[in-house]
Amino acid sequence: MALLKNTIFLAKTLRRVPRMARVSPALNLFFLRYINKFRLKDSAGHWIVHSHLPPLNHPAFARFVDLHLLKRVLGPSHAQIGLTNACPQACVYCYSRERGGKAMDTAAILRAVHELQELGVCWLGLTGGEPLLNSDIARIVETAAGGCAVKLFTTGSTLTREKARELRDAGLFSVSVSLDHWLPEVHDRNRGLAGAFATAMNAIRLIRETGGIQVGVSAVVNREMICRNEVEPFLEFLRGLGIDEAWLCEPKPSVAAFWNEEQVIRPEEHRELFTIQDRWNRRPGMTVNYLGHFESREHFGCNAGHKMVYVDACGEVSPCVFTPMTFGNLRDRPLKEIFAAMKARFPSGDLCFINRNFPLIRDAANGRGFLDIAASQRVADKAEFGKLSGFFRLYLRGRQGGRA
Ligand code: SF4
Repeated sequence: MALLKNTIFLAKTLRRVPRMARVSPALNLFFLRYINKFRLKDSAGHWIVHSHLPPLNHPAFARFVDLHLLKRVLGPSHAQIGLTNACPQACVYCYSRERGGKAMDTAAILRAVHELQELGVCWLGLTGGEPLLNSDIARIVETAAGGCAVKLFTTGSTLTREKARELRDAGLFSVSVSLDHWLPEVHDRNRGLAGAFATAMNAIRLIRETGGIQVGVSAVVNREMICRNEVEPFLEFLRGLGIDEAWLCEPKPSVAAFWNEEQVIRPEEHRELFTIQDRWNRRPGMTVNYLGHFESREHFGCNAGHKMVYVDACGEVSPCVFTPMTFGNLRDRPLKEIFAAMKARFPSGDLCFINRNFPLIRDAANGRGFLDIAASQRVADKAEFGKLSGFFRLYLRGRQGGRA
């Protein structure tokens, strides 16, 4: 039944984006196999595989096919942008913790969004800090939604019914509210703020009631939860909230507090999350979307600095949100130049760059938690990227050197 529904969605997508038929058969087959690990759904009017890809009926999907699968532009397909470093919460694993500087104003953020679109970005995540604290967020969403599928990552702080409507009307397709546990006290402790759990629950309710936006929860699942078999009870709890998607990620060694081999997810735990994801996605209802599955060697691999880029709230350009490195600031150079210099050092690899290479960052940090350009370049030059992922082996088949 799920296969039949997927086939119908894909047939309708092919009718909307006929140039998909011109994509190489090997890549189309790869996508077909990948997509069939999920149940394609109409979530609030969006035909969604999961929220890390543009909805199939969104103009950004047609752009993705055109730019990245047919024209094969060198720029990134995915990006995140920080709208502020301010946040009422203080998560232990927050990747913005060591970032600082002068925040971009709205004009600079809008320029960055245009530059990202020009480079080929089709999926844009809004993050921070707490992005809702940027009072121009709806304007930024509206600009970005012109070429991208736009997703918001939020703690839920300050969300109101009016703001949710405004964001939907501006073109936001998905929201992930952070939630780390079903026990309010555990979530509040992780977030360093009493009442954080209640804030998240309120935000989920408001977005569901607003309609027109895919509602998700993003959860950081640590090794302890995996070892204690707490992931599935947590998913049961999330399903009970009536959300569309549980977006899972493990804590990354992005900040000094996590520069410890013991905290990095083990391959067998990684696989355990795959198995859980596959099992859950065979059932109807909530989609489970583990980032490590999308970014695994079987699928798309790690594309930090290659097909993914992060522009933080101060304009620093990093390979992804989890890499405490900069390759330049938008105040000093155009994104195109910074990205090209970064990409020259970042081939697509088959395992998470930061999980694999954080010891190099730790050694180069010298007491700081965020590397400057020279240190970032030195780390990238020494880093291991591994082999190509399943997708990139096909993508680059027959190309000289086998690397993009
Ligand atoms: S470094 Fe890790 S988190 Fe960042 S893009 Fe690569 S796989 Fe994803």
